[in-house]
Amino acid sequence: MTELIIFGPPGSGKGTYSKELERLIGIKRISTGDIFRKEIEKNTKLGQAIKKYVESGALVPDDIVIKVVEKELKRIRKKNFILDGFPRTIEQAKALDKIVKIKGIILLRMDERILIKKLAGRRVCINCGKPYNVVSIDEVVGKVHYVLPAIKPKKRGICDVCGSKLIQRKDDKPSVIKKRLEVYKKQSRPVLRYYRKKGVTFINVTVNRDIETVTKRILSLLKRRMKIKV
Ligand code: ADP
Ligand code: ZN
Repeated sequence: MTELIIFGPPGSGKGTYSKELERLIGIKRISTGDIFRKEIEKNTKLGQAIKKYVESGALVPDDIVIKVVEKELKRIRKKNFILDGFPRTIEQAKALDKIVKIKGIILLRMDERILIKKLAGRRVCINCGKPYNVVSIDEVVGKVHYVLPAIKPKKRGICDVCGSKLIQRKDDKPSVIKKRLEVYKKQSRPVLRYYRKKGVTFINVTVNRDIETVTKRILSLLKRRMKIKV
C-alpha cells in the first residue's frame, strides 16, 4: 500500500508532481484545491460556502475539508493515494490519522522569492485546467541555482490541449499570493513537525529544475527510501 502526502508552499508544484506520480506509478491523486475549484465553478452548495475562503487565500474551515476528504478516501477505498493540499492544519492531520496511516511525505522546497515570481506567472486553462507559466527563472538564491523554464502555450493565451482561453487564478493575484504564503507559514508548516514526531518518512526535494528532472529525483527517492516500485 502506498499512502503519501505531497506537501509544500503554494506554487512549489504539488499539483504538477502529484499528477506526474499518478501517471507514472498509478496512485490515485486527491487534490482538495481541485475539488474546491470545481465545486465553486459548478456553483454547488459546497462551492458557495467555500468561495470566499479560496478566492481570498484563506483556509477553508477544517470541518468542511475533513468531510470532503473522508468521502473521497471512502470512494477510492483508501487504496494507494497521494494527498495534494491536505492536511493543511494540525486538526486535519489528526482527523486523517483516524482514517489511514500515512507512510511518507514528499516535501517540496522552494525559496519564497522564487515562489512569488512563479505564482505570478502561472496561467491555467479555463476549460481543462492545464497549467502554464509565462515567466522563466534563472537565479541563484542562497546556494541554490533555480533554472525554471517557462511553460508557454504554442499560441499565446490559448491552451495547447483543448484550445480554450488561459486565465490567471483569482488567488494568484499578488496581494492574495502574500496572504497564502503567510497562511502556509502559520497554519500549514506546523503539520511537518507533527509528522516528524510520528516518524513518517520524509522525501525532501528542492524544486530548482524543470519538471522532468525534478520528477526523476522524486521517483528515485521513492524507490530508495520507501521501496516503492517505479
Ligand atoms: P496552493 O497550494 O497553490 O495554494 P491549492 O489548489 O492546493 O493551491 O489550494 C487552493 C485553496 O483551496 C487554498 O488557498 C484554500 O483556500 C483551499 N484549500 C485547499 N486545500 C485545503 C485544505 N486542506 N484546508 C483548507 N483549505 C484548503
Ligand atoms: Zn485546456
